[in-house]
Amino acid sequence: MGLGKVSQFTCPDFHGVLVQIEEGSIVRFPCHTGHAFSMKSLICEVNEAIDTGLWDTLRAVEERILLLRQMAEQATAVGAAGDSTECSRQADLAEKRLKPLRALVLDPKFFGHDDDK
Ligand SMILES: [Zn+2]
Repeated sequence: MGLGKVSQFTCPDFHGVLVQIEEGSIVRFPCHTGHAFSMKSLICEVNEAIDTGLWDTLRAVEERILLLRQMAEQATAVGAAGDSTECSRQADLAEKRLKPLRALVLDPKFFGHDDDK
């Protein structure tokens, strides 16, 4: 096993830098913890990381909106109309910005529909 050169990629599990080893037409990305990836398995891992990240982001933004709505209600309940309006405004804005993100996450064409795992 040659030493290879440092690649531009990181291990999907621990984000340590992956080394790139070329053996003829075969490229391998071994990780110092013992993981090893081919180009194909690496792109599968990267796709999955993007997918997971997008869903996590989507969920976080949805939670933010729910929280802002709840804050607005509470502000109304204690008579802080100004705060309530501001929270509602931010919730509306977040909802508007969430739309393209949701469309992206739900778009099966985003990954070229290449799931042959
Ligand atoms: Zn690793």
